Amino acid sequence: MRSKLVKVEKMEIVSQLAASISHEVRNPLTVVKGFLQLMKSQTIPKETQERYMHIALEEIDRAETIISDYLTFAKPTPKKEEPLLVEQELERVTHLLQPFARMNGVHLVEKCQPCSIIGNAEYFRQCFLNLLKNSIEATPRGGTVTISCSCKGEEVVVTIADTGIGMTVDQISRFGEPYFSTKEKGTGLGAMVAVKLIETMNGTWKIDSEIKKGTTITITFPSAKTRG
Ligand code: ADP
Ligand code: MG
Repeated sequence: MRSKLVKVEKMEIVSQLAASISHEVRNPLTVVKGFLQLMKSQTIPKETQERYMHIALEEIDRAETIISDYLTFAKPTPKKEEPLLVEQELERVTHLLQPFARMNGVHLVEKCQPCSIIGNAEYFRQCFLNLLKNSIEATPRGGTVTISCSCKGEEVVVTIADTGIGMTVDQISRFGEPYFSTKEKGTGLGAMVAVKLIETMNGTWKIDSEIKKGTTITITFPSAKTRG
């Protein structure tokens, strides 16, 4: 009975995320369409046309960012759960983000023990991509973001520690809230997606942070060994 309930909840989380994507992407697309129509139907001065073009391009960027917060690894196949080699998956995500870290002048370090959990590889990668991206974005040039994983008894613990700007108590309490962002061009969707995906994989998370010192996010999953 309990496992059935859990399944239903997971399905709901996933279908809610799917509904959010179409909703979120539709907004910028509507704006782009509107401006293109304006440009087509009127003889407008060159500066105005350039301004419209600029807005349209910015909105397309926004749609792209939203899609990458949700769907970087999505495949059109049913989502299955399987044993995941945590260190291998984290290595992959870290590797993918190295150019972004380098561009931001941040050292991205990965220190992982071999551990395994039960989950979905695409969800797992999306989740850590979003979390690591935030940590890199929060860290000034010359700083470090370290991702580590270790097996502690029946749990697998992943930590992401940055030497970044830190978060206030209010920001910590709003972490994962849809549309909460302190960034000029933030979507406020990356953390929400990460938190939902952690829940889908039966994990828990906590944040320790100090302003101007940095933030550590600790995510705990049941180890693959303990799941029947
Ligand atoms: P976005 O990155 O688009 O702003 P997210 O949902 O990914 O949206 O993150 C929400 C907010 O959480 C960020 O705007 C930021 O204020 C805060 N945040 C997340 N991770 C960190 C971090 N490692 N250090 C400081 N603040 C963070
Ligand atoms: Mg983000």
